[in-house]
Amino acid sequence: MDQIKYLIPEDAIPDQWYNIQADLPEPMAPPLNPQTKLPVGPEDLSAIFPSALIAQEVSTERYIDIPDEVRQYYRQWRPSPVHRARQLEKALDTPAHIYYKYEGCSPVGSHKLNTAIAQAYYNREAGIKHIVTETGAGQWGTALSLAGAAMGISVKIFMVKVSFNQKPYRRGMIETYGGEVIASPSNQTESGRAILAQFPDSPGSLGIAISEAVEVAAQRDDTNYGLGSVLNHVMLHQTVIGREALLQMEMAGEYPDVIIGCSGGGSNFAGLSFPFIGANLTRGLSTRILAAEPASCPTMTRGVFAYDYGDVAGLTPMMKMHTLGHGFVPEAIHAGGLRYHGMSPIVSHLQNLGQIESRAYAQNACFSAGVQFARTEGIVPAPESNHAVRAAIDEALRCKAEGRSEVILFNLSGHGHLDMQAYLDFNAGKLVDHEYEADQVSLALESLPMGVG
Ligand SMILES: *Cc1c(COP(=O)(O)O)cnc(C)c1O
Repeated sequence: MDQIKYLIPEDAIPDQWYNIQADLPEPMAPPLNPQTKLPVGPEDLSAIFPSALIAQEVSTERYIDIPDEVRQYYRQWRPSPVHRARQLEKALDTPAHIYYKYEGCSPVGSHKLNTAIAQAYYNREAGIKHIVTETGAGQWGTALSLAGAAMGISVKIFMVKVSFNQKPYRRGMIETYGGEVIASPSNQTESGRAILAQFPDSPGSLGIAISEAVEVAAQRDDTNYGLGSVLNHVMLHQTVIGREALLQMEMAGEYPDVIIGCSGGGSNFAGLSFPFIGANLTRGLSTRILAAEPASCPTMTRGVFAYDYGDVAGLTPMMKMHTLGHGFVPEAIHAGGLRYHGMSPIVSHLQNLGQIESRAYAQNACFSAGVQFARTEGIVPAPESNHAVRAAIDEALRCKAEGRSEVILFNLSGHGHLDMQAYLDFNAGKLVDHEYEADQVSLALESLPMGVG
């Protein structure tokens, strides 16, 4: 059974998201107010988030209903297909069975619409008219822009300047959906002006763009902020991926031994893996859960697990997470969606509890995996997704060496159709591998607001 989507009825779209906070063996450390350093309450967040999302952020209910209107919208592309990668298996000559869940079939080409549509819905229900956000490579801005169009909300996006200049097609897509794009750092905010005064040629970073967006959102009652990853409610919305996959693997008559996702802020990885981690925690199963990240921004493999800000200016609550320090500006690798200094606190917590393994890969190794995948399976993966493809191929080769026929399931978080410059550069041998330097680690430690913790 190779293409499982069309064998299941539309009603196979789950009607609830899975909240892993219900099953954590130990609770997470709370987010802290950046001024008082006390745990944040709902009132600290209500200037920028609607109450429904704040409630989801701290909920310990195991299942949370997907609103009918959101689920109706999901029907445009969900359930997303699970494919068995038989051509890739053959090329690798591996006894492993490789499956992938393909999120690139959403209208925007990635998993990000799963949460964008939910966030826009809850904001509209709360009477919000405008959402402000940031975007790195542009996928989140694209998704939120479409979600805003669907829910009648205007969307303003601070786009990391280097991507703004390098990815005109992403900007074109965002503007086609009606979103407004501003290159960050900009002179529209205090945070932006402060950076520009010090570094007029700053290429920008996600941490800077978040500061600008949060600053604008906090100033107006009818305006909120939306984040495309990292926060608990974002991980929650993405679990629609893993809940579908549980069902699809059951239809295939297999259960994964290894689950793999690439990780930037952690959302597509969490979306696929959390329902399976839940099964590990509550049903005594032992599926391995593996996060693949870039060697140039190795939050999980090289960062520290400590309190840090989500942005450069220190406007966001402090979260306990794997971090390289909020001032860290990663190299301009092509997987722009993975260039964030922190990691989802809940993913970090699970790694700290030993539920998750992580591995870092350099970009040339990832692109060579992506090219092999394209030539066998036909889909050209997003540069971010190539990290998951790399890890899946390495696991399949390990199975070959060990003569084991394990079942591997990975998340193909998006397609790379708007990232062809990256493939042109790779094919021409022009991609550079950036290693994260050891002295950057100590720099990161110095910038932490509460020390190494
Ligand atoms: C944004 C993005 C990522 C990284 O974000 P996560 O929150 O870690 O999922 C990965 N893949 C694609 C295609 C993306 O657009």
